[in-house]
Amino acid sequence: MSDIGSLFEKIVAGKIPSYKVYEDDLVFAFLDINPLAPGHTLVIPKKKYETLDKVPDETAAAIGKVLPRLARAIMKATECKDYNILQNNGTVAHQFVPHVHFHIIPRPNAKAGLGLSW
Ligand code: 5GP
Repeated sequence: MSDIGSLFEKIVAGKIPSYKVYEDDLVFAFLDINPLAPGHTLVIPKKKYETLDKVPDETAAAIGKVLPRLARAIMKATECKDYNILQNNGTVAHQFVPHVHFHIIPRPNAKAGLGLSW
């Protein structure tokens, strides 16, 4: 996809449809289009920063504040106890969309949830 760099900005702007999970002034969260498990959610800054090290303090704090709240809500909705939070930076680190995003991935069982192992 040639405009992959602006994909999440278009989702935030509503130009590309998504299933919104949460929104405030700085943060947006929506269901992943290709979930590794039911409830797989992406949490992003509304403004595009390619990697985590570029995110300013105020936005980083806003994301940090809502991540545990969203994890609680998603685990309640999916009736899961276990989950991964994954955040990739750069292509070598398996980042596909160059707009910072945190994956919240419920783990209903040992097989569901992650397509990779380490
Ligand atoms: P990354 O590999 O960059 O950490 O993860 C990118 C994530 O974005 C993938 O899990 C992928 O399924 C998700 N994704 C890619 N395009 C779309 C889209 O158009 N809509 C939604 N909701 N998720 C997307």
